[in-house]
Amino acid sequence: MVSLDTIKAQFPIFKQVTPHGKRLVYLDNAATCHKPQSVIDRITKFYAQDYGTVGRASYWPAYNTTKQFDQVRHQVKELINAQHAEEIVFTFGTTDGINKLANAYLSPRLEAGDEVIVSEMEHHANILAWQRVCNEKGASIKVIPMKDTGNLDYEAYEALLNDKVRLVAITGISNALGVKNDLKAIVNRAKAKQIPVFIDAAQSLSHDPIDVTDLGCDFLAFSGHKLYGPTGVGALYGKKALLEAMPPMSLGGGIVKEVGFKNSSFQDSPTKHEGGTPNIAGVIGLGAAIDFINEVGYDQIGAHTHDLTNYALEKLSQIEGVQIVGEVTDRASVLSFVMEGVHAHDLSTLLNEKGICIRAGHHCAQPLMKRMKQPATARVSFAIYNTKEDVDVLVAALKEIKTFMS
Ligand code: PLP
Repeated sequence: MVSLDTIKAQFPIFKQVTPHGKRLVYLDNAATCHKPQSVIDRITKFYAQDYGTVGRASYWPAYNTTKQFDQVRHQVKELINAQHAEEIVFTFGTTDGINKLANAYLSPRLEAGDEVIVSEMEHHANILAWQRVCNEKGASIKVIPMKDTGNLDYEAYEALLNDKVRLVAITGISNALGVKNDLKAIVNRAKAKQIPVFIDAAQSLSHDPIDVTDLGCDFLAFSGHKLYGPTGVGALYGKKALLEAMPPMSLGGGIVKEVGFKNSSFQDSPTKHEGGTPNIAGVIGLGAAIDFINEVGYDQIGAHTHDLTNYALEKLSQIEGVQIVGEVTDRASVLSFVMEGVHAHDLSTLLNEKGICIRAGHHCAQPLMKRMKQPATARVSFAIYNTKEDVDVLVAALKEIKTFMS
């Protein structure tokens, strides 16, 4: 096991003080997390020593780059235990993956009267793209409700599964409340009715391993930047036969066999889905981020962030006037709270002056916020570099703000 001090020392961002002269206490990891030196170095080395395009040229930098690029595809395959590297399509992130799937997979299959199931706790990214396609085709979105606790209503889900449903699109973890969904149960119930399932793993993969083969989902998307990797890169997993059967997700250079003005033919998947020059440096950096995760290990990441979350829940609930939103039974390292008499946005602004970064607002999950009857919450989310001291600093600052504002 790597010591937590050694791990934190790998993140250069923490070596500086904030503009307010404070130690940086970064608690917005559900939005994006910081990068270890190894990720920064890998990207720098790529630009300084290896830079070239991928899959198109036969000179040495392009050859080296293509080799590294393909290696990362294998790393992603291993990370999520896909059956084939060809099942991994590089994207610009989770949102991009969902949009591509909505256009290339769902749209051609959807007819008037069909249904797509999402849940009430989805991030807007896992609603809007499906919604547009449904509206264009006269299909409808059906919503798995949340219980008052914030947990998903599995009985209501079961009742929604019928032969008009063309896709279940569900998040592994709620970015607003930290609810961990029982993906196995969700996939099994859909599969019993031959309904394809898409998993939004934007939050999941930073906490827990996901095994797509064991899970049996058809599609999954994630973003590199929430996984200690760079922004602007992510991956979309799809079962091989499904990806092969789909038209290219993005049309452009690098994907064709032959182009004519009337018709064109395309390479096999995943090449045919990656039109245009990809975010090569992003993919290379994602490879370094996966190395980092493998070195630390999901066991340590999960155990540490779980401990911190429980510690924070205990300490925050002891502050008078603070209410944790949702009585979540199985929680990832995300929690939302409100403070009596202080708006979440004010809290976040005041905390910023103390060097503490939290998130305030609707967290791109407006339906969830309506369900929990909260216009805005303050959100704290942990990563491997956070410490109990971070929580203590937050708690002390909240107590100070409470006294000051009352
Ligand atoms: N889905 C969930 C659950 C998220 O938390 C996020 C980002 O916060 C997204 C999707 C969108 O991810 P990205 O902005 O990296 O595309």
